[in-house]
Amino acid sequence: MYKKYIAVLIACCVCGVLGCSDENNSSVPEPLEENAKQMRGDKVLGAPCESTLECQGKMLCDGSSEQGYCRPARCGEECEAQDGVCVGIEGHPAQCWARCEQMGSTEGLKCVDSEGESIAIPEGRHGEVVTFDEMSSVLDLVCESTAGPVSEYGPTRRFKFEITAQDRAFMVVNTIPGAGSFYPLTMTLPDEQVIDLLGDYRHHNARLGDMEGERLVNQGTYGNISIDWSIMFPYSPQRQEVVQAGTYALEVQGEDDLCLYVLKEQQDAGVELDINIYFTDTYEFNAVEGSADEDLQEVLTYVDEIYQKAGISLGKVRYFDVPEEEAIQYLVIRDVEDIGKLASLGRSPGRSLDDVLSVDVFLVKGLVVQQGMLLGVSGGIPGAPGLHGNPANGLVFSVSSLGADNKLVAHIMAHEIGHYLGLRHTTEFVLGGPLEETFEEYLGASDPLEDTPVCEAIMMGPDNCPDVDNLMFPAAPYSGNRSVADISEDQATVFINSPLTK
Ligand SMILES: [Zn+2]
Repeated sequence: MYKKYIAVLIACCVCGVLGCSDENNSSVPEPLEENAKQMRGDKVLGAPCESTLECQGKMLCDGSSEQGYCRPARCGEECEAQDGVCVGIEGHPAQCWARCEQMGSTEGLKCVDSEGESIAIPEGRHGEVVTFDEMSSVLDLVCESTAGPVSEYGPTRRFKFEITAQDRAFMVVNTIPGAGSFYPLTMTLPDEQVIDLLGDYRHHNARLGDMEGERLVNQGTYGNISIDWSIMFPYSPQRQEVVQAGTYALEVQGEDDLCLYVLKEQQDAGVELDINIYFTDTYEFNAVEGSADEDLQEVLTYVDEIYQKAGISLGKVRYFDVPEEEAIQYLVIRDVEDIGKLASLGRSPGRSLDDVLSVDVFLVKGLVVQQGMLLGVSGGIPGAPGLHGNPANGLVFSVSSLGADNKLVAHIMAHEIGHYLGLRHTTEFVLGGPLEETFEEYLGASDPLEDTPVCEAIMMGPDNCPDVDNLMFPAAPYSGNRSVADISEDQATVFINSPLTK
């Protein structure tokens, strides 16, 4: 049932860095189901709602706003029938809104003026534009560093930060709020032990230039397609000794435009994960329709079920549309570079730390790269928690199987979020092959966790692999033979250690 191994191998060379799933069967994108549900509700345009069944006519309950808002999925006939106004607000695509004057109660709503009309939009509506400065001040971005010694890679900068005895884990993220590049080099721990971030502490994003000639160049999560890089301490429970109370020093090759932030996870770590779902299909399947879509809701229920094995659960789910002009370009992804361009359209869903600590999930109708073997891509292993709007911020996957195989879609989503939270593949599709040595040197050919099985014979085919049922196995299980994926105790610890679970 799995595709020819040579094709899997080609896909996985990128896999190891970007984080992806390989599909066993090439599925032809199917048209998304027409939303032709019978509506019996009597709520009018703009009324708060919890379910689509409460809304009049063919309107849906738009879950992209906190309290729900009855409205048609798109402008046009139905909007006119409801006497609505079709305008774009706050940089978002044109949508059908109620006029303030026609609302009996404006509780939970606010009136904004647009194109000469007073429009009733929900208060606390998702998607108000949050600037990079606002986001970085919430994350406590520090751009002050001191010059370090000149390394073989060029001038270096040193950042210092403190970790306390209350912290069980932390994530360090370097970023340049502009163009540029940098190489992380070493981390000096409070006990003065110096960790080589490439040679020793290597189970994470590869650096641009590493593994040159091995198809990994320019495919990484930073370098020419990204401007942030994150590393978690510890990346496995076996490396817990890297978390100490005291002063740390991070040495990075780069200029003084480099910034850094540190997110600490305390002992009483939370277990909820918030996600922001972005739609690229503003006409057929947009945030209004998607938030009320039964198949998508079923996918989220399955994702929740998978994560229960790790003791975590989905928290807030927000729904957004990618701006219309861009959406059309990324509806079907045909170029790996477009994955980063799409991810860069994400925006922080709010101005609090709780808001920024959420994962951007981009749904596309098709992912036609690497012979259709690629099912999803995570912006990083781990992705930068809290940042939105960079090419490496978020994950992209195909919902071509939505409605036909919701469990598969849920598996891909849970797998990609797994990467984003810091999980590697249990075994890379290189073990026992010509790329094993290179992978082992720069990233590790299997994950750094002790309790996940490794498949020594993965190149012979995945069927007999002891880790084939694990969520982080590099190929997706095929239909009809799927149980809820395994998550090991160590993998669960990585999840809990992530600042994104809170
Ligand atoms: Zn993967």
